[in-house]
This record gives sequence, structure tokens and C-alpha cells, in this order.
Amino acid sequence: MRLDKLLANMGFGSRKEVRQLLKKGAIQVNAEPVKDPALHVNPEKDEVTILGERVVYKEFIYLMLNKPQGVISATEDDRDRTVIDLLDGEHRHFNPFPVGRLDKDTEGFLLITNDGKLAHELLSPKKEVPKTYYAHIDGRVDETDIEKFAEGLTLDDGYFTKPGQLRILQSGEISKIELTITEGKFHQVKRMFEAVGKRVVYLKRLSMGPLELDGALRLGEYRELTEEEVAMLR
Ligand code: URA
Repeated sequence: MRLDKLLANMGFGSRKEVRQLLKKGAIQVNAEPVKDPALHVNPEKDEVTILGERVVYKEFIYLMLNKPQGVISATEDDRDRTVIDLLDGEHRHFNPFPVGRLDKDTEGFLLITNDGKLAHELLSPKKEVPKTYYAHIDGRVDETDIEKFAEGLTLDDGYFTKPGQLRILQSGEISKIELTITEGKFHQVKRMFEAVGKRVVYLKRLSMGPLELDGALRLGEYRELTEEEVAMLR
């Protein structure tokens, strides 16, 4: 890989800015000062330093975002802010995208990465990755709903869902529930409640597969996954 591309990919500025760093003699490869932006380096083997600091190359990033309402799960949009707009330049540089979608008015756990293979696997219907949601429902949710969700429900387009595990945290005029499903159809949680004549008024995703939303992340905040967390997703 070209040296200027590697450094730009690692977030050390645009290729032009990286070239200026090279001109200034700030960069060494295997302890030799280097000025040629086109120098071919092997990110795995060559030791690249910037002002003496080792540059650790990575190809992929994995971010856990606590998605706020009002932003859309896309990489770009003409009208609305997207989840990618919430990221720092350092992370946007990797051209990441959201793994699946949360509705504009849904909050919570959204994985953002540039690892297409992992994203594909997590979204594959065959994998049946469980996703748990917390929701407020207009009206009383009761035991018969738990049974109906456990059997599977017919959505408005005739699709019969896989079983959903519904837990009632509080039943009342506005009920509080948690629901775990292993699919990701368009508006699935909202449409499952519609199928039992009820309406979701607040929705937040709590987890995806083995990973739970980090409680320290406020709405709109994100952090990189640890290596262990990435390994858990595979
Ligand atoms: N189900 C929905 O209805 N909306 C979401 O954003 C996620 C799951």
C-alpha cells in the first residue's frame, strides 16, 4: 500500500496533508526518514512512525452508537442528518456504514463498521442474531400477548414472523416491555404490536447478539468496540 494512503486511512489528514508531513521529515519507515508519498509499505511488517510515534495500522473499525431519535440509519441523505454525521472525522475516514437500520424515531444500539463481511453475517436471516428492544406500548400488554408473540405473528403484508420473546416490565395505560426477536424486517417491532392491535410509542434497542448497549454512552455518543467484543460478534 502507498505510504500516503496508509497514513490518510489512519486518520492523519488528507493525502495532501500527509504529503506535507512527509516533506517536513516527520515520518520514518523502519527507522529511516522517508519523503516519498508513493513508497510502498507493508502495514503488517514495516514499522511506520510519525514524530517518533508508532502508527498501528487497522483496516476495520467497529463502533457502538447510542442512536438518538431524529437521525437516520444511512450513510448519506439529502434532508436528514445521518448516523454517520455523528462520527468524528477520524472515524468517518474509514467509510463506515450502519449494520441494519433503526427507524428515525428509534434509539439505542447501532453497530457501525466498514467490515462488510461481518455486517453481512450479522444481518443474514440464517444466523438469527437476537436483538432485544425496550418499548413503551400504548395500552395494556398482557399474558395473551406473550403467547401470541411466542407463537409468531402475521404482519400487515402477510409475513408470518419467527417467535418473539415478550417480557412485560409494567402493564398499564402505557405498558413497558422488552422484546427479543431474531429477525430484522422493516419496522418489525412496531408491526408485531400492530398485529395484536397495539401501538409502540417509544422504542430503543438494547442489544444485538452478545453485545449490550454500553450504559455509559449518552444518546448520540459512541465508542469503538474492544477486540474481545469484536471477537464475540464473529
Ligand atoms: N423494529 C421497528 O419497528 N423499528 C426499529 O427501528 C427497529 C425494529
